[in-house]
Amino acid sequence: MQGAILVLSGPSGAGKSTIINHASDEIGEYYFSISTTTRKPREGERDGVEYYFVTHEEFEEGIKAGEFLEYATVHGNYYGTSLKPVKEALEEGKLVIFDIDVQGHRLVRAKMGDYVTSAFITPPTLSELKRRLYARATDDSSIIERRIANAKEEIKAVVEFDFVIINDDIEKASKEFATIANAARLKQSHQELENFVKIWDN
Ligand code: ADP
Ligand code: 5GP
Repeated sequence: MQGAILVLSGPSGAGKSTIINHASDEIGEYYFSISTTTRKPREGERDGVEYYFVTHEEFEEGIKAGEFLEYATVHGNYYGTSLKPVKEALEEGKLVIFDIDVQGHRLVRAKMGDYVTSAFITPPTLSELKRRLYARATDDSSIIERRIANAKEEIKAVVEFDFVIINDDIEKASKEFATIANAARLKQSHQELENFVKIWDN
């Protein structure tokens, strides 16, 4: 496989989707891994665009069938990354971008570490995260409070990532993200390096 994986994690409301959209013109061709979830769609979300929305039973069928590269329970719902489209995109040499939680990052790194570059995205403070989640107004306050409580745990995983983007100013954060995405493309797998050494040594 020739491609590369860029894992983005960070609290819900950190600005991951905003940054990917904002920087999309600067990072060349990429494949965004569309996750599967049992969470209900928010207003305006479409099946097969933001997520594949499935029932609890359908998700568990997927687990049994071994469809997921990784999956986790996040904020009380299942979320998972399907293996097949990711493999295909990597075989085509693409940069594959994942927006997954810190548990997913650990699992992907354990399985495919050779391909992985990772970045943790966070607002400058917890109070700014709160403000953004309430301003986004896509979730009930009980759901928002649960996400804020989880964010206090998620931030502890920041040390596990290659890069951290503090999303204060969106222009600056998007530029940093584009730099990281372009560096991720250049990361060589060990296999590729071993092949290179064989040719170089001829
Ligand atoms: P995530 O995908 O990480 O859950 P979103 O991209 O949906 O987060 O961003 C959460 C909210 O914060 C959105 O309403 C978005 O417009 C807003 N936002 C994102 N980046 C910034 C920023 N740098 N300054 C202010 N608001 C921002
Ligand atoms: P949201 O419900 O706000 O779209 O996402 C909630 C959290 O689930 C975010 O932290 C997001 O990164 C994470 N997430 C989304 N898809 C996946 C996935 O496929 N696997 C894992 N482990 N986490 C995911």
